[in-house]
Formats: sequence, structure tokens, C-alpha cells
Amino acid sequence: VEPRLVASRASVITPRLTLIVIRDITERERVEQMRRDFVANTSHELKTPVGAVTLLAEAIDSAADDPDQVRHFAGRLTAEALRLGQLTSRIMNLSRLQSADDIAEMRDVAVDEVVTAAIESQGITAEASGITIARGGERGLVVRGDRQILTEAIGNLLANAVAYSPSGAQVGIGVREADDTVEIAVADHGIGIHEDDQQRIFERFYRADQARSRRTGGTGLGLSIVKHAVQRHGGTVELWSRPGRGSTFTIRLPLVRGAEPSAAPKRKSK
Ligand code: ADP
Repeated sequence: VEPRLVASRASVITPRLTLIVIRDITERERVEQMRRDFVANTSHELKTPVGAVTLLAEAIDSAADDPDQVRHFAGRLTAEALRLGQLTSRIMNLSRLQSADDIAEMRDVAVDEVVTAAIESQGITAEASGITIARGGERGLVVRGDRQILTEAIGNLLANAVAYSPSGAQVGIGVREADDTVEIAVADHGIGIHEDDQQRIFERFYRADQARSRRTGGTGLGLSIVKHAVQRHGGTVELWSRPGRGSTFTIRLPLVRGAEPSAAPKRKSK
């Protein structure tokens, strides 16, 4: 190779390499910062329910002679323990979705099955609040993804729609094909989301209107999981909302044409 050519190539290549290296370091620092923030937020969020469980256990101990009091504190202890369980499993799911690891199995998935499973997962809660989930739209559409993660994402949207709607209301879920994507929209006529909060509710642990939110006992992680799950599938999530009128969350995922979706895993018969 002619020396002059090498020199001129090097001068072209070196700045680019430097740029790439700098970018790589910046990216690594960003990921590391995210990890540190995540650990800090998470530890902070876990302190409250762990503290409550400890206090309630002590309360039961000191009320040992009063069966009514014991029952009362035991009920609250169970509720806090369930919340703690939900919080930890959501933290684990979110951390998995945020990591660089492969998220399980990407297969052709029937959207109908995912929607059915998500509706079933919210059935009892919806029924308890007298809320009906109305399902509509197109059938037979297929996307590529992880069935369990997609079911959880849509389940989280339905759970919110139910939690932030008045008792007796109707929640809708609709599916349609649009421009090479599958649109899955979850709509409610609930409390709605203030414009200032709309950008922030996808951040982890962010909850609009603390007082009102706290009553529903959420974790502030549901939408963060939705966002990361959808991004991992090459999709998007969009929000329309008006305070007092309701909200519609629309997930868009790349449509798979002409696919035979793989069968859902058989349920174990008892
Ligand atoms: P949470 O467990 O608090 O519901 P999410 O991440 O799922 O956590 O939601 C974040 C916040 O966004 C909620 O606390 C609530 O303030 C708001 N939000 C989410 N979905 C709805 C909805 N369908 N209607 C009104 N507010 C909503």
C-alpha cells in the first residue's frame, strides 16, 4: 500500500473512530446513570410498604388481647403485603425490559389471544367495580412478539382504565389494521389526565395527582412497563386525554402479513 494513501486514510478514519468511541462511552455512562437512578428510586419506593408491614406486624403483636383489632390489622397487613408483591414483580419486569438482554421469545402472535388474555387478567377487578369491558374491532391480526409481555402491557392499560373510571362505567378495547401496523386502543370515560402530566406519566414511579392516585393503590410503574414493552417490539404508544372526559391509549405494533400465528401454550388441565 502506498504510504501517502495510508496517511490520508488514517486522517479521515481517526476522527470518526474517536467520535464513535466517545459516543460509546457516553452511551455507557447514560445506561449506568439510568441503572443508578433505577436502584435509588426503587429502594425509596420499597421503603414505604416495607415500613407499613413492619408497623402493622408490631400493631398485631400489641393488640393480641383484642381479636377485632387483630383482625383489622391483619387485613391491612395482607393488603400491604399484596401491594409489596405487585411492586416487586413490576420492578423485576421493568428492569428486565430495560436491560440489554434479549427479552424471551419473539414469535408470530395472534392479537386476539393477547387481547383475550389481557381482558381475562382484569376480569375480577373490573367486575368488583361494576365496570364492563367492551371489545370491538378487527379479528385475525398477527404481530411479532412475546405473548406474555404484550399481554402484560395491554393488561396494564386495561387495569388503569378500570382504576381511573367511576364505578359502573364502560371501558373499551378495539383492534384495527392501519398502515402496516396493528392499532390496539384502550379507551375509558374516567378522570382523564391533565395536560401537564401527559408527558410524564410514562416515567417510572410518576403518578399524577398523588391523593387521588394513592387511593387506587397503584405503583406508578404500569405505564413505564407499557412504554418499554412496546419499544422492544418496534412499536409506539400514544395518549389522548381530557381531564373529566377520559383517556385513550393507542399501541401500534408492526403488522405481520400472511402469517400463521403459533399456537398459544396449552393450559395445564387440573
Ligand atoms: P399507577 O400504578 O399509578 O396506575 P401507571 O404507570 O400505570 O401507574 O400510571 C401512572 C399515572 O398515570 C397514574 O398514577 C395516573 O395518575 C395516570 N393514569 C394512567 N392511566 C390513566 C387513565 N386511564 N386515566 C387517568 N389517569 C391515568
